[in-house]
Amino acid sequence: MPDITVTLDGKPVSLDGSTLRDLITDARVVAARVDGALVDLSSPVAGGQSIVTVKADSADGVQILRHSASHVMAEAVKILFPDARPTIGPATDDGFYYDFDRDEPFSSEDLAKIEEKMNELVGQDAPFVRKEMGRTEAKAFFEQRGEPYKVEIIGDLPDDVETVSLYEQGSFVDLCRGPHVPATGYLKAFKLLSVAGAYWRGDERNRMLQRIYGTAFPVPKDLRAYLTFLEEAKKRDHRKLGRELELFMFSEDLGPGMVIYMPKGGRLRTILEDFEKKIHFKRGYDIVYGPSILRGRMWEISGHMDNYKENMYFTEVDGQVYGIKPMNCLSHILIYKSKVRSYRDLPLRYFELGNVTRHEKSGVIHGLLRTRQFTQDDAHIFCRPDQLIEEITSIIDLVEEVMAVFGFEYTMEISTRPEKSIGSDADWEMATRALIDSLDKKGLPYDINEGDGAFYGPKIDVKIKDAIGRQWQCATIQCDFSLPERFDTHYIGSDGEKHRPVMLHRVILGSIERFIGVLIEHFAGAFPVWLSPVQAVVMNITDAQAEYAASVAEALKAAEVRMEIDLRNEKIGFKIREARVQKVPYMVVVGDREKEDGTVSIRERDGQQQTMRVDEFIALVKSSDPVI
Ligand SMILES: [Zn+2]
Ligand SMILES: [Zn+2]
Repeated sequence: MPDITVTLDGKPVSLDGSTLRDLITDARVVAARVDGALVDLSSPVAGGQSIVTVKADSADGVQILRHSASHVMAEAVKILFPDARPTIGPATDDGFYYDFDRDEPFSSEDLAKIEEKMNELVGQDAPFVRKEMGRTEAKAFFEQRGEPYKVEIIGDLPDDVETVSLYEQGSFVDLCRGPHVPATGYLKAFKLLSVAGAYWRGDERNRMLQRIYGTAFPVPKDLRAYLTFLEEAKKRDHRKLGRELELFMFSEDLGPGMVIYMPKGGRLRTILEDFEKKIHFKRGYDIVYGPSILRGRMWEISGHMDNYKENMYFTEVDGQVYGIKPMNCLSHILIYKSKVRSYRDLPLRYFELGNVTRHEKSGVIHGLLRTRQFTQDDAHIFCRPDQLIEEITSIIDLVEEVMAVFGFEYTMEISTRPEKSIGSDADWEMATRALIDSLDKKGLPYDINEGDGAFYGPKIDVKIKDAIGRQWQCATIQCDFSLPERFDTHYIGSDGEKHRPVMLHRVILGSIERFIGVLIEHFAGAFPVWLSPVQAVVMNITDAQAEYAASVAEALKAAEVRMEIDLRNEKIGFKIREARVQKVPYMVVVGDREKEDGTVSIRERDGQQQTMRVDEFIALVKSSDPVI
């Protein structure tokens, strides 16, 4: 074997062997990038190659680890349930899954058994062996193994594909591009999590498969931390808390992805909407309302008929097609166009709590986070190009102000021009520059997502971080060159000529439904006082204070404190516990002493207690209202 020289992690190295394995001895390395491409460590080495090691704890490494775990899981499933037919098993952002076609459902006991078998297979430290096979031969191979899905996948490959790669470990062989960890023993920390239904190829017309979810990490400590995080997330699940706190409900009878706000959820939404109306009005926005059902012609002009039709709902009235709005822009454009606008009239800012309807696939609907109907805190700003930076800056100010009220930290991303886009280079340059300059001017850090903008303009996305570190997309500021053009929108400039205004679409909370879902999970249902649907429960210790309790409740009600009264003939401890389960911020207890002194005894959610006068308590509740 002749000596060859390669670069390994940037340094020249000579090796006396033929594969990457001969070169790389570090046990933390699971694969390598050779001249940019990810490959197995069993790959041959050629002189002059640039080799970068991929460690298990790198982003690529974790993906490879998880994908390899999915193969081991499939092997375990095939051993335990020979009737299960494997389909595909990729890594995901936080784990992996594998879909199986099997008549009987997998139970949680089955999951435990599969995990145990996986541990056994990992203990055997079986190597992952890559093989290349001719297409026809591979098809016959999987046919003979009774795996019709693999046969179908091979059949669907482009005509010019002549060979495919297979990976074998232990008794399992999968059709796969790889790469994989060198051997099953590399899987040191994994866990199976759940089973769910999934359609073959994600298509509702296809057969329903069973998807087993799991996750894997480079070291057990990371896995433990992730499992703790999952537990915490489960406790905060807004769907569970939404039921327990009687905030909202869904009904299959009514239709999937459609939210019904119950009385307490209705209050929460009203508080948010009142807050939004106030803050927007104060910031120079006009509050407007547009209809939900618009003539089909409008959606033709806007381009939705060509680009968004499958996500929309339509209806026919008097022989004419109407589309139910998936966005609020069009009415706002008509308001703008309702008279001749001069450069002196701009900017114009129209705000609407607009209810929009979008046909989301049933598989992606998820509680309040992804619904088919939701309300955006939407606004459209029409301005002159020279006003763009100032307008964007003031939207960012508003984002800052609103997020401070809720206590969210956030990060920003700018998405630039994608390959397929409309508008001139000059427009894109001007708008992208304006977004960047606005953030620079405010001294805010941001990431740039090259080519991730909408086809009609660049945008800023704001992601908030919740109490357990999860990120949620909420505010978006979007420049648009398309709609002003399509609807022939203009203003008369100081030169007496017609000019196109720039249109900004922006939301601050995004979808009110989704934001409520995030708030529930962030606060684990224990909302700040100003947001709590019920701020106080007044409760008496014995019947002797019933009348006094009622008078306290009356005073609170008159001061618009959202309160409930509990005069039931129950032990005070029981009443307090019930209010605590409902996460009510203040329990207002009145006994003989309070009655005599004309005071109330306040217990907070965290157990703190103090006695005060009723007017002092009212002031305490009111002190939590945000100053806007
Ligand atoms: Zn694979
Ligand atoms: Zn819009």
